[in-house]
Parts: sequence; C-alpha cells; structure tokens
Amino acid sequence: MALTFLAVHAHPDDEASSTGGLYRVLADQKVRTVLVTCTNGEFGDAPGGIKPDEDGHDADDVAQLRESELDKAVEILGISRLVRLGYRDSGMMGWPQNNDPHSFWATPISDAAERVAAILMEERPQVIVTYNEHGFYGHPDHIQAHRVTMSALALIDYEPTLYFNAIPNSIFAIMRERWEREEREQAEADAAKGIVRPPEPEVAQEDRFEMGTPDDDISAAIDVSSATDAKYDALAAHHSQVGESFWMKMSRDEFRRAMGTEYFVRVTNPEGLSGKVTDIFAGYR
Ligand SMILES: [Zn+2]
Repeated sequence: MALTFLAVHAHPDDEASSTGGLYRVLADQKVRTVLVTCTNGEFGDAPGGIKPDEDGHDADDVAQLRESELDKAVEILGISRLVRLGYRDSGMMGWPQNNDPHSFWATPISDAAERVAAILMEERPQVIVTYNEHGFYGHPDHIQAHRVTMSALALIDYEPTLYFNAIPNSIFAIMRERWEREEREQAEADAAKGIVRPPEPEVAQEDRFEMGTPDDDISAAIDVSSATDAKYDALAAHHSQVGESFWMKMSRDEFRRAMGTEYFVRVTNPEGLSGKVTDIFAGYR
C-alpha cells in the first residue's frame, strides 16, 4: 500500500520542533509526506529577537523571512508537499491580533476545515498528526489547528489514524527545568541592563492545563535517532525563531541524545491497535 503521512501545523517551525524527526524518518522510508502550515507566522520574532510589540518589528517582513525558512526546513526534512493555508498569525492569547479578521483565530472553523478536508481527500493520508485541544501549549493558532483538523476529519469519507503530538511528563520535567533556568538567566541579564519586562499575565484557574502527558498515555514512541541531525538542521533553518532557543544551545551530541524519540497519543484507531507502537504506520504495513 502506498503510504501517506500528513501533519497540520500552526506556524512555520512547528513541523520541525514536534515532527521533524518523524518527517525525515518517513521520507527515508519513501513514505509520501504532506505538511499543512496554517499561518504565515507574522507575529514571531523579527531578526535579533525583536518582539511584535517592539520597534523594528515588521509583521510582513517576518512572514516573508519565515516563508523562506520554512522552504529550507521542508527540503531538509524531505517533505513531499507543503501546503500553506496563508492565514495571518493570531499572536498569543489575548493579543489584539486575535481579532484581526484575517487572523487564523478569527477565521470560521468551517471555512478552514473545508480547505483541509479537500487536501485530505486528495492525498488520503492513512496517518495524521496535529495538536490536542489545548494546542499543546495554549497558543490560539495551535488550538485553531486542532479544531480545524477535527472538523475536517468529520467531512471526509474515510477514517485515518489520528495522533496528537505529545511530550511525556518524564521528558517534560527535564525540559521545564531547562526553560526555567534559561528564563531566570534571561531575567538576570535583562535586570543587569536595566530592562524591565512586564510579568506574564496570570492564567485563570479554569484555563490551566498540563502540557506534559502521563507516560502511560503515550501510544506511539517513534525512534528518530537516525534523523536527529536533520531535525537539528531543520530547526536551525528557522533561525529567526529558534536561533536563541534551548535547542540551538545544545551541542549536536547533546541534541542527538535528548531528541531521539518523538511521542504521540492515538486519538482515532480504525486499525484496532492496542498498546504502545513504535511505528506511526502500525496497522498499515
Ligand atoms: Zn507554533
């Protein structure tokens, strides 16, 4: 059977960070791979780490730069087909950009779902990956990518195996420690330069959720150790966004050791799989 894989991602760079290893491994297995990127990423950082609310941030320039960065990453990951839906980045939750009628967040779910469904009908991927209902970390574009994908699945004439990308709690604890250390160091560096950043807005109790997944709930753990260099290079291609990230601060060796597995939670199960699989196409080959 000709195998096709498709992931729906929110921004340029998400394909690399959450599925970069999987894409490269599947390409090496001659599986057809499709990437749907929903937004242009206008409200990522401008070069030099300039934030969207700072002087020198031009949303359209950022989008243009990220378009070429995504092209590079797609080539590195051997992705067969890239579809850009071209919605405007919605910014973080609560930002005024959420209400821009061209933003992905303000786009009627059914409109975008019809477009994704058309791609699904054309490609007929057996396996699909997107985010869970929290968009993994609460970003409106990631939540919308989830909603649009779920609606698209209801419009098509077959049932693929759907997975949400996930990070097991055991791994998440290690990442969190790293992030928190980096945030502390950044705050200290800012303070030394006299920069005061506004505190992150408090998240209401009912809006809180866990980013990590209990280890026992992971249903696919994919060995991507043969593809960690490609994943590293694909992330590096998104230089404007991840140039200063914790990934890029790792040496290649460290990255290889830390990033050798990608994890997923199975959501639909037309092949009647049970337990944890090590092949995302389990049931299909
Ligand atoms: Zn994103």
